[in-house]
Amino acid sequence: MRQQPRHAERRLAHLTAAARRAGIKLTHQRLEIFRELAATEEHPAAETLFRAVQQRVPTVSLDTVYRTLWTLHEFGLVTTLGPRGGVRFDANLEPHHHYVCVRCGLVRDFESEDLDHLRVPSAVKQLGSFVDSQVAVRGVCAQCLRASPRQAPPPPPPKKRSSR
Ligand SMILES: [Zn+2]
Ligand SMILES: [Zn+2]
Repeated sequence: MRQQPRHAERRLAHLTAAARRAGIKLTHQRLEIFRELAATEEHPAAETLFRAVQQRVPTVSLDTVYRTLWTLHEFGLVTTLGPRGGVRFDANLEPHHHYVCVRCGLVRDFESEDLDHLRVPSAVKQLGSFVDSQVAVRGVCAQCLRASPRQAPPPPPPKKRSSR
């Protein structure tokens, strides 16, 4: 799913300029990877991005996509989310939060000033320093709800009252 072209262009311009400043060589393949990353809202895994870039650049390798993404990450030009094994990449560097579908894994950005200024509990200070906070709201996305609104309902509670 493509985002508003204007957003994508702005992100691509930012990514390209920042990469140039960081001394990252802008090969044709890398530019195509940037283009794909800047245009998507999907927070893609490297494999997903690879398949998309491959449509236009058949010679690109998964390894090149991986190395490009982690290079960008090293320079703070993309962020990651998800577990190490299934890591996904995010080219949106504006403060934002995520909506995550618990059924299909869809991830979408949303903005909230309230959440940007979340008061961090003092317990965090014991764990380390604080840079920013990002909230993940989990649920079942509209598309999954349409596909099967009542999939796997929780088992009915026992008739007898529990002792708790
Ligand atoms: Zn879903
Ligand atoms: Zn995001």
